[in-house]
Amino acid sequence: MKLYIACDMEGTAGNVTWDEVNQEKSEYAQFREIMTKEVIGICEIAKTKFDDICIKDGHWTETNILLENLPDYCNIIRGDDGRNLTGLDSSFDALILEGYHAAGGEITYPLSHTISDDIVFEIRLNGKRIGEKTLALLNAAKYNIPIIFISGDEKAVEEALSCLPDLVGVITKKLSNTSYICKSPQKVNGEIKKALTQALSNFEEIKEKLIYRPSKFDLEIEYAKYFYAKKAANYPNSILEGKTVKFKAKDLDEFLHIINLCI
Ligand SMILES: [Zn+2]
Repeated sequence: MKLYIACDMEGTAGNVTWDEVNQEKSEYAQFREIMTKEVIGICEIAKTKFDDICIKDGHWTETNILLENLPDYCNIIRGDDGRNLTGLDSSFDALILEGYHAAGGEITYPLSHTISDDIVFEIRLNGKRIGEKTLALLNAAKYNIPIIFISGDEKAVEEALSCLPDLVGVITKKLSNTSYICKSPQKVNGEIKKALTQALSNFEEIKEKLIYRPSKFDLEIEYAKYFYAKKAANYPNSILEGKTVKFKAKDLDEFLHIINLCI
């Protein structure tokens, strides 16, 4: 059994500022360690079911997870090649999302964004704001891969559960005014181990319910700058309205194609 673990940093325990997730800042070292421990905690539970575990470091330069601490039964995909969930294909049996965060457009959340806040303000699918969680679910759906588990801030978990109500999630932090109330990393690690153990216990029975399959793909991308919108509106049959471009994708493949091409 083969598992893909997609990791991000803004939704791991404790961090609340961009400096804490930026490799060029001194604060970063602590949060890189916290992220690594969170990922290792997931691996320790996941290895009871999966004999092949592939970790995808998905934050910024995609070189955050500390390698010397990784268990020997894991592989890791590192480095930003501009693709979403590099290496994910139909050979995988399941996906886990770690450290996910509020979507672009959730303006009260300090670390909210979708892919790049320089380019995208907000993405909407069928009228609903979506972020990197839903994009990950849809990338997995392309290969019929179910999602076992998500950890991240409250908005990340809420968004994933709104797509897949049977999904198990652990919330690392909640909004309080415009900052976060964070659980301690130790508490988060304990909760992840417990929740993931529970999720694995009935995964086989419910896995068909853990694949997100929207019935249509009406996509709107509201860009951060008019320049990007105007460029994206070259896509066939799209409609430009201010900084927003409306696309009508005929199916999942076209939806993912537009996301890759137009962001
Ligand atoms: Zn990130």
